[in-house]
Amino acid sequence: MLANTHPELQVIDASRVRAADRDWSLARTPVGPRLVARVPAADAASLGGFEGEAGTSGSTTTLVGPLSARNAAALRRQILWLAPRPLGLATSAGFGDRLGLATPGHVAALRQVGGSIAPVFAQQSIREMARTGRTPQQVLDAAMWGVLAAGWREGFGADADHLKTPADIDACLQAGFTWFTIDPSEHVEAAADGAAPDTLAPALRALPWSHLEDTEAALRTRYVDRDFDVDGHVIRVDEAAIVRAAVKYGRAVAHVAQMYRYLRAHVVDGAFDFEVSVDETESPTSHAEHLYVARELRRLGVRWTSLAPRYVGRFEKGVDYIGEVADFDRDLAVHAAIARTHGPYKLSLHSGSDKFAIYPSAVARTGGLVHLKTAGTSYLEALRTLAQVEPGLFRRIYAFSLGKYEADRASYHVSGRLDRVPAAETMDDGALAGLLDDFDARQVLHVTYGSVLTARDADNRPLFVDALMAALREHAAAYTTCVERHFVRHLVPFARPAVERGRA
Ligand code: ZN
Repeated sequence: MLANTHPELQVIDASRVRAADRDWSLARTPVGPRLVARVPAADAASLGGFEGEAGTSGSTTTLVGPLSARNAAALRRQILWLAPRPLGLATSAGFGDRLGLATPGHVAALRQVGGSIAPVFAQQSIREMARTGRTPQQVLDAAMWGVLAAGWREGFGADADHLKTPADIDACLQAGFTWFTIDPSEHVEAAADGAAPDTLAPALRALPWSHLEDTEAALRTRYVDRDFDVDGHVIRVDEAAIVRAAVKYGRAVAHVAQMYRYLRAHVVDGAFDFEVSVDETESPTSHAEHLYVARELRRLGVRWTSLAPRYVGRFEKGVDYIGEVADFDRDLAVHAAIARTHGPYKLSLHSGSDKFAIYPSAVARTGGLVHLKTAGTSYLEALRTLAQVEPGLFRRIYAFSLGKYEADRASYHVSGRLDRVPAAETMDDGALAGLLDDFDARQVLHVTYGSVLTARDADNRPLFVDALMAALREHAAAYTTCVERHFVRHLVPFARPAVERGRA
């Protein structure tokens, strides 16, 4: 029937959903992917929320429409598993996707590793959205179309990452996000780390005590000279430690509580995942500081599903953990114990891509109460694909990225150096993809995505993004393969304990 009325449509089999007498799918067409809806002609009014070209042949009405925001919203009302949902404490992984084409690869990796990792297919920070010129709705819808294309029906989360203001919350809530990561780093007083006791005293006095519903005296009574037994790990807190923790994180605690209450007041059905991230600070979060943050947030009524301390060692973008794994393991054991006994909540690994050295420790110490957050690594796999299928375009993007690196690296944790990156001019096309395995080149390409995706020529035409997207659409299978291969390595350590727990 469909083939008769629209011979040019090539339905993507995995996307096909039959619900009652309605039939939904995606189709490849010469002008890109389209939504195809077929309903009984008598029921044609049910397509009223959709846009596109509708026609009736016999007893069936068929609509062929664009992958637009309107059609995405209408389809979510028809197919419930296309709407993101809160994931709670399930072992989970976040797949930030700056181009919006990576979800089929993420799904393929999840299917290959098995287990029961709960996926976050829509995930983008406010900073990433600003740099790529995408809206929260575009991010969420792109993931949803990928979910439909791949036929993933097990549910997924949508993480509005590194939110800093109520306006950030509004935009993401409106778009349908279900996981809100609050980043209070602007309220973290990093200078408290090295500060002398006499400078800490006035800083303590200056905390927003009314917002904290607290007093200095009450704070001291709760913490000073107490031993906190956290699942067998004793954390001793003295006067100096609590003053430093309060000065460093007190304002952040007040800010997070404010953002939490704002969300509680605005989320219609009351259910959402809430994450607190202090990962983007200079110094590691001590155990006493983690304890302070967790206990104070609880006292203020905040409930969260995950928290990202700043761990020891270095979590640089796009490369493996830098530091001693044994140190990380010892440090994480206590953070995990705090998370078990003060929630429980998951520990979140931000800048988590490519940290293969520490995944086994993270999974073992948390017992699977862990969230792996990745963002830029899917973009890097897009570039790897490009190096293989359109080396000329890849060379231009690489050269452009080198020129932008020094400026773009400012807000990221990277140590890649331009004087160490390989020169592409002398490389054969076949060797270009290897640049994605080079520490320095990888970091250069990782942090310059915003410049690449928004660059325009003298006539204000996009310099790279349209050609990049066209290449990835044309070579969708190659891109999915690259993403899948890369993510299987990430997910295997996280899938295993879930399976074992399930059997226990
Ligand atoms: Zn982060």
